[in-house]
Amino acid sequence: MLYVNDIFYSIQGESSFAGYPCKFVRLAGCNLKCSYCDTKEALDIKNSKHLSISEIISSLYSIGGGNNIKLIEITGGEPLLQEDIFSLFEELIKLNYHILLETNGTISLKKVNKKIVKIVDVKCPSSGFSKEFNYENLKYIGISDEVKFVIGTEEDYCFAKDFLKANKIKTDKLIFSAVEFEGSISSKELADKILKDGLKVRLGIQLHKILRLK
Ligand code: SF4
Repeated sequence: MLYVNDIFYSIQGESSFAGYPCKFVRLAGCNLKCSYCDTKEALDIKNSKHLSISEIISSLYSIGGGNNIKLIEITGGEPLLQEDIFSLFEELIKLNYHILLETNGTISLKKVNKKIVKIVDVKCPSSGFSKEFNYENLKYIGISDEVKFVIGTEEDYCFAKDFLKANKIKTDKLIFSAVEFEGSISSKELADKILKDGLKVRLGIQLHKILRLK
């Protein structure tokens, strides 16, 4: 059984899969409270339904053209807080789904099946949780996985650059994702910085927000 905040169908917005139609399972509950969190409704299991794996699978089947769309993102909240997530992964793998896992980088990735594409956040200072990254996770990030830095300030940008210099990361799928809040740097400023410094990173723009989708 899993606490599920929402199951929906939309456009994948912020990874190398951005732009593809995707089914989403948003699990409830998180161990962080990032300052800019845009899914506050998913932070508490009070706003969730307690669903079995088969109920989740039938909900997924009922959206987005039945079995046609095989891209699924498991997000949150923080999905890895719930032990039964591993049973959901196994069922989805058996059904040949292509699974993306969005995780905040603080919980061990050791048990996550290698067939799953992990999109791992490294929290920067403006989140309030830049000290929470689980460095052991660097061992479990492979070439198909992605590492994402959500950047809202100059300090975040420098932190992300320093992190990349200081740590060996096996994937070259590195995303600097713009987030806007009062006093933040704009996406354009972030783009200019990446170009000026010649960084081999992908600029992430939250496509689903531009399109006003979920
Ligand atoms: S980790 Fe994600 S879901 Fe949790 S508080 Fe931060 S932004 Fe929100």
